[in-house]
Amino acid sequence: MSPEQAMGRALELAAAAGEWGDTPIGAVVLGPDGAVLAEAANEREKHGDPTAHAEVLALRAAARVHGDGWRLTGATLVVTLEPCTMCAGAAVLSRVDRVVYGAHDPKAGAAGSLWDVVRDRRLNHRPQVVAGVREAECGALLREFFASRRGL
Ligand SMILES: [Zn+2]
Repeated sequence: MSPEQAMGRALELAAAAGEWGDTPIGAVVLGPDGAVLAEAANEREKHGDPTAHAEVLALRAAARVHGDGWRLTGATLVVTLEPCTMCAGAAVLSRVDRVVYGAHDPKAGAAGSLWDVVRDRRLNHRPQVVAGVREAECGALLREFFASRRGL
């Protein structure tokens, strides 16, 4: 599927995370042929795990099925929110070719907003970045989630 279609699926996963009380963030990893290798939602609250961000969970699952050890060469990470430092680092270390994200995160984004870990020229692998895919929908989901939390 296209990155735009994968973002649609990531939005569904994000909405589900919001239902169980996690910040609504979803991620999909596409293989070199565009097939879905793995998908995940943010499960930090669900599992009490500070590293259970959607991107990390999806990259781990994708590596298990991709068939090249831990390397995700040729793969694309699609995520609803700009990756944080941990997830940007994980994307670099997994050797994905491309990172596609929806909403920018001016407070913690590490793929262009606050830092640019993904394209740091000092690192030997720099995935291509496509930002702002279905940004309005991705941002609206997060805003609605935080607005409803404040209303509790
Ligand atoms: Zn993260």
